[in-house]
Amino acid sequence: MDNRDIKSFKGVWVFAEQRQGVLTPVVIELLGEGKKLASKIGVELCAFLAGDNVDDLIPELIQYGADKVYYVNNKLLHNYTTDGYAKVLEKAVEEYKPEIILIGATHIGRDLAPRIASKLNTGLTADCTKLEIDEEDGKLLQTRPAFGGNLMATIICPETRPQMCTVRPGVMDKAIKDTSKTGDIIDVKVDLSEDDIRTEVLDIIKIKKDMIPLTDADIIVSGGMGIKNADGFKLLKELADILGGTIGASRATVDAGWIDRSRQVGQTGTTVRPKVYIACGISGAIQHLAGMQDSGIIVAINTNPNAPIFDVADYGIVGDIYEVVPQLIELLKDGAR
Ligand code: FAD
Repeated sequence: MDNRDIKSFKGVWVFAEQRQGVLTPVVIELLGEGKKLASKIGVELCAFLAGDNVDDLIPELIQYGADKVYYVNNKLLHNYTTDGYAKVLEKAVEEYKPEIILIGATHIGRDLAPRIASKLNTGLTADCTKLEIDEEDGKLLQTRPAFGGNLMATIICPETRPQMCTVRPGVMDKAIKDTSKTGDIIDVKVDLSEDDIRTEVLDIIKIKKDMIPLTDADIIVSGGMGIKNADGFKLLKELADILGGTIGASRATVDAGWIDRSRQVGQTGTTVRPKVYIACGISGAIQHLAGMQDSGIIVAINTNPNAPIFDVADYGIVGDIYEVVPQLIELLKDGAR
């Protein structure tokens, strides 16, 4: 494959990441974004699906916007392995030559994308938060935070194809389902053998989660260093439970060991867009704002009236969380009675 023969590459591909036969939510976001890009360039939006008998997912991908689904069905793809998935995606790209590949910046996506880019000798922009098409030459403009979030860098891949990027979950709008939509299925044949895969998945142990994942929550009650110690999260959890929400955190609290890293909101954590984000004792550093400023309604509780979090807040309460939050809890309990 001559990856500099730019004109021979056509179409936008979305890597349809699935785990145990369920699509990861970012795939629907990528299909939504991919559709916009594909319409701008006037090409097809396609999904690339690999797995072991995951045919059930094909109609879903089509209804969420894919004109074509490239499907590799192989029992060796039952669980994700770097070697197995990298081989089938690489071979499919060499055969069908997409000009753009969008991959979710999940654990799997972050593992797979750089390997494909390196095998195909093309560029990769990791962790994009915005994608556009250059009006003049149709190139993909890939924007991501850089230099500690102090500026946004727009990166292009001018000389080789495909143009590849990983995209942060929770940033792009989800595609809208159209149950009447039809599309084509391309059965991709790749010669994959056990010898190609150097790792063996013995078991998958799911961590028991007693809290809703950040990206699934409509309401997030988030704690910063203003909560003073790990116990502060118990108070915030009480509020989150009453509201049917979940707990978020600033990086400083994660670094302090007060809460698990999976709860971190921000540039190096998760990007969230809940209906309501309640920031408790969070100063509002730019890296934190990068992960939550597009929330529907932002409520900030902080003792410092000049804290930058108030610049993005719809409702600001200047006060101590240990006075304000218990009152909120009581009011909500009274309301529920
Ligand atoms: P602080 O900045 O210490 O703020 C504590 C706030 O609590 C203050 O505003 C204070 O007025 C208030 N307060 C104190 N007592 C009370 C009280 N009793 N009641 C109410 N309010 C009170 N940070 C992130 O969050 N997410 C990221 O993803 C992230 N990525 C980063 C990436 C890089 C490369 C770098 C350099 C930094 C990153 N950071 C990130 C760190 C970020 O710069 C800040 O240091 C961090 O967000 C600060 O956390 P904080 O607001 O909890 O703490």
